[in-house]
Amino acid sequence: MKTLTGGRLPFRLFWPPIMFLLLGLLTTAGASVTLTEVSEARARTRFETNVTETRTLISERLQIQISLLRSVAGLFAADGQITRAEFQRFVDRLNLLDNYPGVQGLGFSLRVAPLDVAAAVAAARADGAPSFRIWPDGARAEYHTILYLEPMDARNRAALGFDMYNEPTRREAMARARDTGQPAASGAVILVQEIDEAKQAGFLIYLPIYRDGRLPASTAERRDELIGFAYSPFRADDLFSGIFRNRPNPRIAFTIYDGSGRAPDAVIYRSVPDDASGYRPAFTARETIEVAGRPWTIEYHSLPAFDAVGDSYVVPLALGVGALLSLLVFLLALGQARARHAAEQAVQIRDSFLSVASHELKTPLTSLFGNAQLLQRRAARSDRFEPRERNNVATIVEQSRRLNRLIDDLLDHTRLQQGRLQIDLRPLDLAALVRRVAGEVAPMLSHHRLNLEIRAEPLHMLGDVTRLDQVLFNLINNAAKYSPAADEVVVCLEQRGTWAVARVSDRGIGIPRAALPELFGQFYRAPNAVNQQIAGMGIGLYVVKEIVERHGGHIDVESEEGQGSTFSVWLPLADPSLSPGADQPGPPPHQP
Ligand code: ADP
Repeated sequence: MKTLTGGRLPFRLFWPPIMFLLLGLLTTAGASVTLTEVSEARARTRFETNVTETRTLISERLQIQISLLRSVAGLFAADGQITRAEFQRFVDRLNLLDNYPGVQGLGFSLRVAPLDVAAAVAAARADGAPSFRIWPDGARAEYHTILYLEPMDARNRAALGFDMYNEPTRREAMARARDTGQPAASGAVILVQEIDEAKQAGFLIYLPIYRDGRLPASTAERRDELIGFAYSPFRADDLFSGIFRNRPNPRIAFTIYDGSGRAPDAVIYRSVPDDASGYRPAFTARETIEVAGRPWTIEYHSLPAFDAVGDSYVVPLALGVGALLSLLVFLLALGQARARHAAEQAVQIRDSFLSVASHELKTPLTSLFGNAQLLQRRAARSDRFEPRERNNVATIVEQSRRLNRLIDDLLDHTRLQQGRLQIDLRPLDLAALVRRVAGEVAPMLSHHRLNLEIRAEPLHMLGDVTRLDQVLFNLINNAAKYSPAADEVVVCLEQRGTWAVARVSDRGIGIPRAALPELFGQFYRAPNAVNQQIAGMGIGLYVVKEIVERHGGHIDVESEEGQGSTFSVWLPLADPSLSPGADQPGPPPHQP
């Protein structure tokens, strides 16, 4: 015999836990993917916000510088003869160092025709710059010279007199400013102000100043009427670290290139030194902006400080928790499957035990019952038996009949379990059958009267006589058994449309409402029956229900605890026209 908990779990029971596990893991994976996407999208948005902020700060700042240059140009438009002292006062008031950190200065570069060089130098020297000269030396078609440059610190002093037009990068911007009348930024240069070892990249922005302060209409006129330039030199590191001085812990880095490429010598500024560690930033972006008519390319990338924050922990957490929950559900389901397996095995063992036991008991019992009946008949005829002995024999017959019925029930249960319960349908008259069974059972009821309410006419149907006997027998027997204090069992038979309805009623212990749904289950017994120690196995109604249903009928019960019960068996009539009921007009019910 198998043990209850042993044996391998059959595959069919293994499936549900596996499905739970797979479903759990799939859901977890799906959720993780979604979470990853969401958190990436959020990080990208944060990055883009940082990029926009950075770009805005840079261009706003350069815009302010151009406004400053416009105010210088305005100064010259208002009064063609500005002295060094006036210029100095003007720039002083702007307080460049505090208000515009990173600007190396504001200046004015004067255009000088070759013939006017000597006069220009003399005028400058007379106007507070005794060692003024135009440099580098050399004969040129046109001279430009830095006449004023404030604040006059050591660096700017080094630039005084320099002819920027003589240097190609600066000349390109100056010529563009002159020809367009617009501010023009130069490419990357090393400023002449770079007097130290550590030199920074720099650039300049020029704004043209024309005679009379007006913008001449044509390029030729602009070239003709140019007086000079208002301009600012920028030391890039100073400028950009000045712009971002309020952000001590940047989370993104950027590199500015002059032009639309990213050649190493075009680098104007790097916000963090080039990273040699090989760090791969999570986000990068690149864009080209226009600064005073010149394209600048800005490359951005996230810094470790940026990539580390955010909700990166959420996804691993979700994965971990999800996997753990899936595993838990899997283990629970597995436990359940094992329990179910054990229960199924137990039921199997019970059923095979019952099957073997009832088969083994049936043979000796049949012989016992037969012989007891024989003995009872002899005792009835013979006067050699005392009345007490006759009673003893009657008890033996009665008890072995009971035992026989129990064994029959068990055998039926086994047959039902194995799908072997045979129903042999033949035409029969249910009214006659009920009358006969009632007649047979009545004498066996020791304490109850059997009250039969039945019409005279036959009720034809297809049925298995033995099995229908068994149904009625069982119900009447139960009615008597569960109404120990009553003295009557009522059996009635009537026709309801195409149905014959047999009812068995008692005024006994009744059935608790909660027990009703279970009543026809195998081995079920209502608690009040158990409590009152009325013997039984809980198989009878299970078998009755099966038999009735195999006849195409059904059984129901009405009961109130303590009041009594009525079981109704509904069976389909073979041909209602053959046996009309009160509510069904038809040919005469029976032959006289
Ligand atoms: P058994 O009578 O052997 O217990 P049955 O299958 O015939 O098994 O009945 C199942 C249960 O239904 C009974 O244990 C009892 O609780 C309840 N029952 C059946 N018939 C009646 C009845 N007439 N009155 C009250 N309870 C009943």
